Order: sequence, then structure tokens, then C-alpha cells
Amino acid sequence: MKHLVTLIPGDGIGPEVTAATLRVLSAAGVDITWERFPAGAQALAEHGTTLPDALLSSIRRTRVALKGPVTTPVGGGFTSVNVGLRKALDLYANVRPVKSIPGVRTRYENVDLVVVRENTEDLYSGLEHVVVPGVVESLKVITERASTRIARFACDYARKHGRRKVTVVHKANIMKLSDGLFLDCFRKVVQHYPEVQPEEKIVDNMCMQLVMQPERYDILLMENLYGDILSDLATGLVGGLGVVPGANIGDGMAVFEAVHGSAPDIAGRGLANPTAMILSATMMLRYIEEDRAADRIEAALFAVLGEDGIKTPDLGGTATTTEFTEAIATRLTDNPAD
Ligand code: NAD
Repeated sequence: MKHLVTLIPGDGIGPEVTAATLRVLSAAGVDITWERFPAGAQALAEHGTTLPDALLSSIRRTRVALKGPVTTPVGGGFTSVNVGLRKALDLYANVRPVKSIPGVRTRYENVDLVVVRENTEDLYSGLEHVVVPGVVESLKVITERASTRIARFACDYARKHGRRKVTVVHKANIMKLSDGLFLDCFRKVVQHYPEVQPEEKIVDNMCMQLVMQPERYDILLMENLYGDILSDLATGLVGGLGVVPGANIGDGMAVFEAVHGSAPDIAGRGLANPTAMILSATMMLRYIEEDRAADRIEAALFAVLGEDGIKTPDLGGTATTTEFTEAIATRLTDNPAD
């Protein structure tokens, strides 16, 4: 079946990992027509806006996008395209599966958890102002509607994927109203899911627990900021930012992207690990019901990392992005789908 998908290659290492991913998808024989758009600084230079309307309309039409990372200036400059895109399309659930990968040696084995992060509010509301010179306020917005919706999403995800436990992460001992509301919504929702074991953890304790015993955790449900920080922490348990994929999911629409950013320190040098982007593409393939292609790509990727021992420098190897990608493509073309 032919698919129409919106593509945002992004900047920094974005174009490199996107090219690698397209090469692997094509070696797997998936038939996708791409609607390609710039975003961020490139779109600003070419179209006068960081998030062109044509890009948003494309995703509203195709209902699915694959996205590379986009740089956000620190301090001043334009607001985050990544946050803007999630809000504009109401992609309220950020899902990041963090799983040990065969052949990738880390301090831990058997990590298999999923970070479910609320994607539309919290301190990412972008509501900041100067009260008087020298005093600024940044508003943390938590609503019952968004907290209930994401709690339901996490519990539905657990049910659908046969996962046993949802741990809600909060700081309701200090932020009694905002985190208190988030926690309360989870408590109400989880009552309707008798098969899901609920657990509650204060975020600072959660950080320690994750580096001590990550294998104890299953689904981690978080507000936006904690989810952002803890998902980077969680990638470190399984090999780092180069290997963990993600999805931003709304009602009938989804944008797939790696957890990592544009990695300006290694951009353009052939050092980027495309694994996270390739795995984001396999999540996308499952979303568009191309499960067989997703399985084949994952098998080829894990065989290259495991049996072949071909790795990019972030995983202790010496392969360039292209060498690593070609090894996966070769495995796919040598073992065509029957
Ligand atoms: P980063 O994720 O870009 O990089 C952090 C570290 O991990 C760097 O040392 C980098 O070299 C390494 N790394 C990341 N991805 C890698 C890969 N695929 N292969 C090998 N090494 C990899 O985080 P940062 O440096 O804090 O952010 C850089 C820019 O990216 C910022 O402008 C930030 O706003 C943006 N960002 C964008 C997204 C997104 O597009 N969704 C997400 C996070 C950060």
C-alpha cells in the first residue's frame, strides 16, 4: 500500500539521520510518498516563519509525520518549533519506549520502560513575563482536562500493550495545587483499569530509583518538564540519546521523532547515530499498519548492532553514519520480504 507522510528533516544532525532513515525504509521496500518541509531557522529564512502553515496543513492532511530534530536558540530568539508543533496539532501524548538493545553494552540489562509525557502544558506553556526589573514569573499551567486525558492515554497504552504498572511521577509535596491536580486525575482514572498496578513516586526519588533499579519500572507517567528531563536520563540507561525513539500522538494524528536534539557538536561529521530516528520510523510504520516492514527493519538494525558489531562512535564503535546505515540496508536487501 502506498502512504503519504509529511517529512521534516530538521537541522544539525537532522538531515543526516533523516537521510539514513529514508535509505533504510527504501531498502525495506516501504512505499511512501513524502511531503517535505523545512522548520526552524531554515524555514524562517525561506518563509519568514519557523513553523510554516503549509507544514501544519500537510500534517493535518496526511495525519502522520516523521521529524528530525530542530534547533531552538537558548535564552532569546524564536520559541521552540518542537513545542509549537505539538501544541498547534494538540499532540498531547509523548511516548518514548526505552528498551535495552542487544549488542549495546550499558551498565544495565533488561530495561524496558515507556515514558509517557504530557506534551501541551506545564511550564512549557511559554507564559513568562517580567514582574519588575530583576523579577520574572514563569507560569506552570496544569489542567484537569489535560491531566485526565494523559492519564487515560497511559492506562490505555498499558492495557493495549499488556504492561502491568503505571508509575505517576510528581512533586505534589511542594506543588500541592498543580502537581496535586495531576496526581489526583491519575488516581481517578486508574480506578477504571483494574489490571493496571498504580504507583506514585516523587520526582527526585524517581531519579535515584531509575539509576539504581531501572528494571523495576514499566510505564512512567509525567508532566511535561519532568518527562523531558527524565526521558533523557532514561536514554542513558540503554545507550544514550542515539538509540531512543519517540512519538507525539494526538487524536488521529502523530508525529514521530527521536528523543535527541540537533546535536550541533557532531553535526555534518558523519558521527550521528541514526538508530533513534530509524526506530522512530518503525514506530511510525506500526502506526500506519506496516508492522511487517517495522519488524524486518528492527531485526536488521539489531543484527547489525549485535551480530555484526557495527556501531557509531557514541556506542563505542568506529562506523560512520553512512557505513552503519549501509550495513542495515544490505541486511534488508540480502533478505528480501517473502
Ligand atoms: P542533543 O540531544 O542535541 O545532544 C546532547 C548530546 O547527545 C550531544 O553530545 C550530542 O552529540 C549527543 N547526541 C544526540 N543525538 C545523537 C545521535 N543521534 N548520535 C550520537 N550522539 C548524539 O541535546 P542539546 O545539545 O542539549 O540540544 C541541541 C539542540 O537541539 C538545542 O537547540 C535543543 O533545543 C534542540 N532539541 C531539539 C529537540 C527536538 O527537535 N525534538 C529535542 C531536544 C533538543
